[in-house]
Amino acid sequence: MTGAAPAGGWTTGRIIELDHPTDRLVRLRFHVEERVDHLAGQHYVVRLRAPDGYTAQRSYSIASDPDDPLLELMVECLPGGEVSGFLHDVAEVGDELELRGPIGGWFVWEGDVPAVCVAGGSGVVPVVAMTRVAKRLGLEDRLKVVVVARTWDDLPYAAELQRYGAFIALTRENLGDRVAAPPYPDELAAYVAGAERAYVCGSVGFASFATRLLEDAGLPSDTIRVEQFGETS
Ligand SMILES: Cc1cc2nc3c(=O)[nH]c(=O)nc-3n(C[C@H](O)[C@H](O)[C@H](O)COP(=O)(O)OP(=O)(O)OC[C@H]3O[C@@H](n4cnc5c(N)ncnc54)[C@H](O)[C@@H]3O)c2cc1C
Repeated sequence: MTGAAPAGGWTTGRIIELDHPTDRLVRLRFHVEERVDHLAGQHYVVRLRAPDGYTAQRSYSIASDPDDPLLELMVECLPGGEVSGFLHDVAEVGDELELRGPIGGWFVWEGDVPAVCVAGGSGVVPVVAMTRVAKRLGLEDRLKVVVVARTWDDLPYAAELQRYGAFIALTRENLGDRVAAPPYPDELAAYVAGAERAYVCGSVGFASFATRLLEDAGLPSDTIRVEQFGETS
C-alpha cells in the first residue's frame, strides 16, 4: 500500500447491465451515485431491503478496473442463497440497490509489488480487477495468476483469465492436455518465482489449501494475504 485505501459509505447503485455468463453466475454492472474510486481487490456490501423492513447484506468483490465508469460485480448463485439467489434470479436492469463501499485496505494490489494470486471459484473476482489494472498499466509481468475451479463453467471470467496468461487448474474436467486435478507444486513454481507478495482468495477450505501450497513453494507466511468468502469449503 502506498497510502490509506479509499472507503465509501452507503449509496445507491442502479443496474445498467446484467447478464448470466453461465447458469450459476450473474454479472451486474452498476452506475453508483457519488462513487468513491476503489483499488483493485476491494469489495462492496450489497444490502437488500424487504417491504417489511427486513434487510440482508453480503460482501461482493469488485471486478472492474477503477477506470471503468461502471462498477462490476460477479456473483455465484449458491443453492438456497438469500442474496446471491435474489441477484441471480430476481434483479433486473434499472433496479436500484443499496451499496456500501469500497471497503478493505489489506487485500489490494496497486502494481507496486511483484505478486502472485491464487484464487478458487468466485474468489477470482478481485483477482480479475487486479489483472485489469495490470493490463492497463502494462504491468502483466508483475502479477502472476493461478486459478482453480471444478469446471470451466464454474470459473468466472474463464476466457479473460486464460487470455491474461493465468494458469488454470480444473479439478473435475480436463483442460487441453491437463488432466483434472488441483494445482501441483511444480505447476506453481514459475508463477511464484520472483513474487514478493501473494493474494489468496476463495472458500475457507480453498484458502488453507492455497496458503499451504504457497508456503511449500517457499513464500514466507507473512507475505501471503488471504480473503475468505464463506464458511464452507
Ligand atoms: C470480502 C468478501 C467478498 C466476496 N466476494 C464475492 C464475490 O465477488 N462473488 C461471490 O459470488 N461471492 C462473494 N462473497 C461471498 C458472498 O458475500 C456471500 O457469502 C455469498 O453470495 C452467499 O450469500 P447468500 O446470501 O446467497 O447465501 P446464504 O443465504 O448466506 O447461504 C446459503 C447457503 O450457502 C452457504 N454459504 C454461504 N456463503 C457461502 C460461500 N461464500 N461459499 C459457499 N457456501 C456459502 C451457507 O452456509 C448456506 O448453506 C464474498 C464474501 C466476502 C467476505
